[in-house]
Amino acid sequence: MKRAAPALEAELARLARLQLRRQRRTVAARAADSRLVVLAGGRELIDFASNDYLGLARHPALAAAMGACAARDGAGSGAAHLVSGHNAEHARLEEELAAFTRRERALLFSTGYMANLAVLAALAGRGERVLLDKLCHASLIDGARLSGARLLRYPHADAAAAARRLGESPAPVLIATDGVFSMDGDLAPLPELARAAAAQGAWLVVDDAHGLGVLGASGRGTLEHFGMGPAEVPVLVGTIGKAFGTFGAFVAGRHDLIEFLIQKARTYIYTTALPPPVAAATRRALELAQRDGRRERLGSLIARFRAHAAALELPLAGGELTPIQPVLFGSAAAALAAQQQLEERGFWVVAIRPPTVPPGSARLRVTLSAAHTEAQIDALIEALARTCATVRATAPAAAP
Ligand code: PMP
Repeated sequence: MKRAAPALEAELARLARLQLRRQRRTVAARAADSRLVVLAGGRELIDFASNDYLGLARHPALAAAMGACAARDGAGSGAAHLVSGHNAEHARLEEELAAFTRRERALLFSTGYMANLAVLAALAGRGERVLLDKLCHASLIDGARLSGARLLRYPHADAAAAARRLGESPAPVLIATDGVFSMDGDLAPLPELARAAAAQGAWLVVDDAHGLGVLGASGRGTLEHFGMGPAEVPVLVGTIGKAFGTFGAFVAGRHDLIEFLIQKARTYIYTTALPPPVAAATRRALELAQRDGRRERLGSLIARFRAHAAALELPLAGGELTPIQPVLFGSAAAALAAQQQLEERGFWVVAIRPPTVPPGSARLRVTLSAAHTEAQIDALIEALARTCATVRATAPAAAP
């Protein structure tokens, strides 16, 4: 341990030198009915950093459901699902998630990270190959590593390259992708990937953490957006800590897939079940997400943000359709300077730097929510325009 300490310090110093050392901010309070956040120390900021896309995380109905369930069932589940932790709220939520995703069954996990580890490690193994998009989420990569299979990557969203790799021998047993990419906000070419996977008999796994609740005519996510179902995408991973405002995740699919995961997935078997109040609040969130116009409102705010940003020629990446709107800066130093300037102007937007994104593509990850007001969006755009102009004039452009 003594010998290792200098190495830790040297690495921390290296990260700081490269502007890659991350820092946590402590939230002291959040307003119930707006995006206002008070940080420890008293600074007030408008939050453009969270994944609470539908503005449900602070909804009083979720807090009430949580409180009522905690009073009835307690704060924690007390054990893993296969021991004594599986509660009626979990069971009902699984049924409702299966109905929502139009699949035979759904299985709750404590986090999306664990759901992805479970799926990859259960469906692939040593001596096999798995194929992932170059920009997919870290948990899919770690799941591939955990499986012991050989990990192959294809260039981001390049369905033709994916099809070529799927055609190699031995064919990969599984291809996995985000539905909406978490740091880019664009969509995977799911119809083409599904065709290529079907041609080779490979599993297609879609992690729709950022699409569910947001995309599609009824919020059923990226698959609904493309008019696809279980036949094309047999394994769907969803998270509930984002658009649904609570915490946790699920895998949805055929009965035999879910039963297999219950028997085999170590991140399901060997961990404490979600607190029942979280399941109860999520059931309310599912209901609200499907009715009171939040998705439509979010869509109109996304369109407003993009139109104003385009008029001011801000360096936007990402999709027309999603609440993830990255503003590209290139170097980590430039993205960090932009984050600091926006904070001084009253906005909380986070710089995303390597290794989360490739070197030279550091960015501000602006996320929009149905709970933002038009005035907040307009004020952010104005602040972004000023920030981009000053950062371009002062910061180095291309170093990672
Ligand atoms: N998949 C994607 C695409 C994500 O963006 C995230 C979270 N950032 C996860 C999975 C992990 O989900 P969770 O936060 O529930 O672990």
